Amino acid sequence: MTSNTTLENLANNPNCMEDYDPNAMHVTKAREFIRQFLNPVSAIETLALHDSLGRVLAADITSPANVPNYDNSAMDGYALKASDLALARLKVIGTAFAGRAFDGKVGDGECVRIMTGAAMPIGTDTVVMQERVVTDDAFINISEPPKPQANVRYAGEDLKLGQTVLAQGHLMRPADLGLIASLGIAEVSAYRKLKVAFFSTGDELVGLGKPLNTGQVYDSNRYTLFGMLTRLGVEVIDLGAIADDPVALEATLLNAAKQADVVITSGGVSVGEADYMKLLLAKHGQVMFWKVSMKPGRPLAYGKVGNAHYFGLPGNPVAVMVTFYQFVRDALLRLMGQSTPVPLPMFQVQCTQPIRKLTGRTEFQRGILFTDTDGIWRVKPTGAQGSSLLSSMSLANCFIVLDDSVGNLDAGAIVQVQVLDGIV
Ligand code: AMP
Ligand code: MG
Repeated sequence: MTSNTTLENLANNPNCMEDYDPNAMHVTKAREFIRQFLNPVSAIETLALHDSLGRVLAADITSPANVPNYDNSAMDGYALKASDLALARLKVIGTAFAGRAFDGKVGDGECVRIMTGAAMPIGTDTVVMQERVVTDDAFINISEPPKPQANVRYAGEDLKLGQTVLAQGHLMRPADLGLIASLGIAEVSAYRKLKVAFFSTGDELVGLGKPLNTGQVYDSNRYTLFGMLTRLGVEVIDLGAIADDPVALEATLLNAAKQADVVITSGGVSVGEADYMKLLLAKHGQVMFWKVSMKPGRPLAYGKVGNAHYFGLPGNPVAVMVTFYQFVRDALLRLMGQSTPVPLPMFQVQCTQPIRKLTGRTEFQRGILFTDTDGIWRVKPTGAQGSSLLSSMSLANCFIVLDDSVGNLDAGAIVQVQVLDGIV
């Protein structure tokens, strides 16, 4: 990006950059534009290991020791020295348990009964599995000799002393909790939680528990947003549903920007309606309005209001979810401190049904990945694809991502899918 790509320039004069077209932004380009304005939260806190799940490390974790700390057996069996493998009989001189080492020394022609995880006795370097020996009182005969040094887990094989185990910017997952515990570390340094405030806009919105009149809808967006944000591990601030009233919208917007790192609204950013949000954002922030070349999902607004990042999502319930996963998720993870957020996994599969699509926009159709009768995973669309049909999102376990250049497809065509399970 060039140096004049400031939010202010773009918000005030969208033509200031070549190849920047707010009326036909490509999805990838919009994501990259947003990315350049994202700096992670700076405040850091020390957390007990349990509490760090889903948080982002603010410092590298280096290994204070070798893991494992000592050479040990990978099997239940007998520890011996490799040079004795050819002997017909070996004398069993004791037993080594996990947590209770054999403290004698193993001489020529001798071995030690050993359990998985027990330290290798002095003088041994190989373990023979118990199933590969025939016992004979205090002696064993090896029926199938292992390779020298087999079945031993060496000190430092998992992690080496001084090694960077997890880097700053890493999002903590279950395996990481165990990994850090295996080092004996009980606390980690993490970025503070990101605060995200959100509200819905629209005169037609009604809260749950109230009756609906004709022309009204229940405010569902706030519930999907709550779910998506909670899954990401941010602190959510739900500011309710606000009518299309400039005074109430202004007060809520300013309140949101004051207390949160990120403000998300749904509805009211399309051109032509009771479009107060656009005026308010021009007055209080530096916000760009894009018609992203995607379906569903336009229009989209991004910018800053005060110090808060602002995302203006479309009102249609499916569009809210699609734009969240395509733009907001990546941005929030970066703001949370994650250095390289893992994109939603995308791969190619065969689609079992025809797909209708016009070229010129990237479509995120809702799909179901399933195991076909021949055992191969394939995808089919959920059915009708209207951007107000939230049931399509509920049925889906993936997006079928159809690039701008793709048109109608016959059954059997190969398509790209983005897996949602475990993420949405
Ligand atoms: P808008 O972007 O405000 O023009 O809204 C587009 C469509 O989404 C309209 O049909 C709205 O009624 C609907 N919509 C907007 N906000 C919500 C919401 N919070 N919950 C459910 N539907 C909504
Ligand atoms: Mg509206």
